[in-house]
Amino acid sequence: MTKYVYAFSEGDKDQKDLLGGKGANLAEMTNLGLPVPPGFTITTEACRAYLGQGEVPETLDVEMTAAIRNVENMMGKRLGDPADPLLMSVRSGAKFSMPGMMETVLNIGLNDNSVQGLEEQSGNARFAWDSYRRLIQMFGKTVMDIDGDLFANALHGLQARKGYTGDLEMTTADLQELVVEYKEIVKRETGVDFPQDPRSQLDLAVEAVFRSWNTDRARLYRRRERIPNSLGTAVNCQTMVFGNMGAGSGTGVCFTRDPSTGHSGVYGDYLENAQGEDVVAGIRNTLSLADLEKLDKNSYDELLRIMDKLQTHYRDMCDIEFTIQQGKLWMLQTRVGKRTAAAAFRIAEQLVQERLITRDEAVTRVTGEQLTSLLFPQFDKKAEKTQLSKGMPASPGAAVGEIVLNNEQAVARTAEGVQVILVRSETNPDDLEGMVAASGVLTARGGKTSHAAVVARGMGRCCVVGADDLLIDEAAGTVYVKSQDRTLHAGDVIAIDGTTGEIFAGAVAVTDSPVMTYISKGLDAGLAAAEDADTQELVQAVHQILTHADSKRDLVVRANADNPEDAALARSFGAEGIGLCRTEHMFLGDRRKLIEQVILAKDEAEQETAFKALVPLQEGDFIGIFAAMDGHSVTVRLIDPPLHEFLPDLTELSVKLAVKEARGETVTAAERDLLAAVKANHEQNPMLGLRGVRLGLKLPGLIKLQVRAIANAYVALRQQGKDPRPEIMVPLIGSVREMQVVRDLASQIIAEVAAEAGIEINIPIGNMIELPRAAVTAEDIAHESDFFSFGTNDLTQTGWGFSRDDVESSFFNEYFDLSVFGTSPFESIDTHGVGALVQIGAEKGRSTKPGLKLGVCGEHGGDPASIHFFAEIGLDYVSCSPYRVPVARLEAGRAAIANESELALARSGGDRATTA
Ligand code: PEP
Ligand code: MG
Repeated sequence: MTKYVYAFSEGDKDQKDLLGGKGANLAEMTNLGLPVPPGFTITTEACRAYLGQGEVPETLDVEMTAAIRNVENMMGKRLGDPADPLLMSVRSGAKFSMPGMMETVLNIGLNDNSVQGLEEQSGNARFAWDSYRRLIQMFGKTVMDIDGDLFANALHGLQARKGYTGDLEMTTADLQELVVEYKEIVKRETGVDFPQDPRSQLDLAVEAVFRSWNTDRARLYRRRERIPNSLGTAVNCQTMVFGNMGAGSGTGVCFTRDPSTGHSGVYGDYLENAQGEDVVAGIRNTLSLADLEKLDKNSYDELLRIMDKLQTHYRDMCDIEFTIQQGKLWMLQTRVGKRTAAAAFRIAEQLVQERLITRDEAVTRVTGEQLTSLLFPQFDKKAEKTQLSKGMPASPGAAVGEIVLNNEQAVARTAEGVQVILVRSETNPDDLEGMVAASGVLTARGGKTSHAAVVARGMGRCCVVGADDLLIDEAAGTVYVKSQDRTLHAGDVIAIDGTTGEIFAGAVAVTDSPVMTYISKGLDAGLAAAEDADTQELVQAVHQILTHADSKRDLVVRANADNPEDAALARSFGAEGIGLCRTEHMFLGDRRKLIEQVILAKDEAEQETAFKALVPLQEGDFIGIFAAMDGHSVTVRLIDPPLHEFLPDLTELSVKLAVKEARGETVTAAERDLLAAVKANHEQNPMLGLRGVRLGLKLPGLIKLQVRAIANAYVALRQQGKDPRPEIMVPLIGSVREMQVVRDLASQIIAEVAAEAGIEINIPIGNMIELPRAAVTAEDIAHESDFFSFGTNDLTQTGWGFSRDDVESSFFNEYFDLSVFGTSPFESIDTHGVGALVQIGAEKGRSTKPGLKLGVCGEHGGDPASIHFFAEIGLDYVSCSPYRVPVARLEAGRAAIANESELALARSGGDRATTA
């Protein structure tokens, strides 16, 4: 029988797949002997079963009874006991944290009778009734699907009638009145009474958490974060502890180091006399942890001891949620904390210095995405700026954009290509869509652990919170800046600095980040560009980690570049060659006429003239690129796009000539010839038509011209004492015979140029594997090929039969919703399908030529997950756009370290599944 329920004492931190992140860490803390309120976790497997069958698995009921009894015995209370009720919380907890995306229900076990028991036991009637009204409110919204505004309006209505300014002014009688009103709302909206049976409350809440896995906002979040829909969430049922029992009670969130700088110290927010999510919801402004020391020294000291213990135990920065109930500290959650990209690098390096982790581990503690965000430009320190106000820096970066005040505006303006900043009083999970669309997020309320801050940090989105100088009126479309008595409107441009918290009026110029300066110009330049010690520490940390990654990686990183400027840029970022130099753009612009001439030529001589005119032009292109990459390989791909791209558009040309005729003007013979040629070359599916090698085989002059230009450029540079290293790559090969013909042709030209120049020329000739047929016949093709480069863009296109120019905007959203895939296969390699073709091609190619060099030059070459896959299957290099080169270097290092530790594990007989 499948076990669906685990007591906290039964799990550990490595069981995140089964118990979710929260459950696994609650178990870990329980086993560390920390003060965790007792409870149990219902597994993700139970959730998956529920979502699959539409009902809870049969045995869950019985298992839960045993688990509840267990908790009851530990606490010496019974769930919902009228005299002294045990109360429980029900919270979601998936494998990956999804802040605020799913539901929580607190105070389960309260009803018309037990509320009185709680009143007696706590000696605090106001607290008891406040807890009860919160239960009905949360339960009504989450479990019974009642519009949450109905409860909020009732609450605000009561406060307005009584002239209150906040929730703390409400009396017991007010809360009792509210409970009656809430129960009426439940009855009116659902036709049934608020359930009084404690166990039914618990069961229904668990089911609601299962269901909340599939809300729109949870799905949207997962798509962004690439979390598979198939995982499901665990559910944690835990004894309630109360931070809202008056003075001496409270609830807080803290980090063992500063999540934005990494510095060790005590960072957190505390809210007195508050429950549950009040801190992160940004409802009231919070106190700092230093204030807690003054309020409750004992709890503060104990908290600090626990923070230290957790950081040493997890060997990482932890974030922690705690509650103090009448002077007693309780730990509600811990996990390895989310952090800014800069903090990730600093913390990793600091932990190496503190000898808590090895340098290999430090490399695995940072990601390519984090490095990417450090390469973003920053506000130019010297730029003129008008400061409007200042808030708390919550997620670094520099964002400039139009003010938008809600999701609709954010999405609409972004769709029009405008950059926007989402400005809200505070955000909640419903604002996710707007946060995704916006370049930056600005809130008037909430601290560094508010929803806006946590979610923006997770997304790498620039964010400033708690700018309480701002008064935001969404209905009026205005943002009033109190200190300046100035009103801004939706559509006005502002700039926000997520590193300092500053808010500026109008656009502000941006400059390179010091990390970017380091990457492109070296350590000294990077350190010199860093304006303070913190930033210098960051540059040093990136340097240490990236050079270590370089020393560990097996994959060579090349760049896709087709002009000398990009080649030089790629070199400065550490590219060790060019893996794809696309040559098609070299035939556009002024040169297009020459190709048109080739296509329209009456005879070979005329064609030949056009080709000849192109040779010196192409030669010049190649000299520039080979020189910029001197001493490093440059893979030049022979021309690839469909022939018709060099001709005018059929419809336009037909209309033009028809209009001419209608006006009685003469249409020339040349124009008629052109139209005939355009018609003759028209294709229904150009991507599957006359392109790639096929074009070169139909017009061999094209191949000869390109090969001659490459060989000439080689000779010219050699004569200048340089070390050019071109490689010729043939696109869209499907058969070994195609390759044989091209190879013979190319070898002949190279031999001719070598003879003319009187030097030996050795240029490898290889091909792209971008058709399934090439992958499955790679053992044949390898006979004629010196290297393979996997064109994973076309391999994805032809493997799936997806037109790469059409499908992403056409039906991919439906495919995400249906879980056909979680990420676009054009973005991250579909390892199971297209990846398998790559693996087959690699294995078959090497079965013919064991040392065959293998690379990837599709977009996937710069995608972290794909890079790990390519490293795992033993490819030699990846090639990506110049700006992705640093990311690819880091990820290739991470992949090598991950492979190494898996190998070590396999050698020691360990099982990956239980240690992952
Ligand atoms: C590919 O198909 O992966 C590739 C690199 O070629 P292109 O994108 O130019 O078709
Ligand atoms: Mg291609």
